[in-house]
Formats: sequence, C-alpha cells, structure tokens
Amino acid sequence: MEQLISTCKEQGLRITIGLKTILSVLKKAELPMSLQELEVNPKIAEICDRATVFRTLQRLEGIGLLRRLNFAHSGAKFSLNTGTGHREYLICRVCGEVKELKMSCPVHQLEEDLAKDSGYTAMTHELTFYGFCKKCQ
Ligand SMILES: [Zn+2]
Ligand SMILES: [Zn+2]
Repeated sequence: MEQLISTCKEQGLRITIGLKTILSVLKKAELPMSLQELEVNPKIAEICDRATVFRTLQRLEGIGLLRRLNFAHSGAKFSLNTGTGHREYLICRVCGEVKELKMSCPVHQLEEDLAKDSGYTAMTHELTFYGFCKKCQ
C-alpha cells in the first residue's frame, strides 16, 4: 500500500482519502472490479460519488497503475497493475461472469522459455479464456 501511494505521489497525483480508499479496495479485491462495483462498495460510497470514482480510475489508469480489462458483456473492469504476478481469467460470454483460474499456471514454462530466448526480464502475463458458464449453456 505504501508503495502504491508513493507511486501516485511520484506521478503527481493528489493523495486524497478517496484515492487511498479506492486503492485499498482494489488491492484487496480478488477479481477485477467494474466502475459500478467500486461505486457501491460501502467503503467507497461513504466518501466518493460516481464522478469522483470515475475520475480517480482515469487518473490511476493514466499513470499506469490500473489495468482496464474489457470484457465483452460485463464492460470494463479494473484491477491494480502492480507489475508482479500473472493472471488467468475465465469469462462467460453470456452473463459476463469472471473467474480467476485457481489451477497452477498453464504457461509458466512458456514464459521462462520466452525470457531465455528474448532476454526479457520481469515477465508477466495475462490470459483470458472465454466460454459459456454452466448457467448459460
Ligand atoms: Zn454465464
Ligand atoms: Zn500464469
């Protein structure tokens, strides 16, 4: 959290209680969150209106701290871009349900091979699988 705040400061963002709250909610979130989900989060709703949440997300995205994932049916969702770790998602094409894969990483070896080949370091990746969930079949 300290790290996130200092990155915001370095990038010239004004550190408000709203910004801190949104960061901490996103940090604890297991899955990417939509603007609407953030807006109705009790901690955020207490301090920020929709416009403030929206502006804050834009600013965080602007400095590269936030990733916007565009899901066909559920719209844009946001998650913190901490530059570490990797993510694999499973998304329903009909209802837009998003799940994070719990199995061991399917492309770990590929990533290592790529790093060796390309000389890249600090690699990370995102994988999204689409399909129809059980309810929507
Ligand atoms: Zn579904
Ligand atoms: Zn992975």
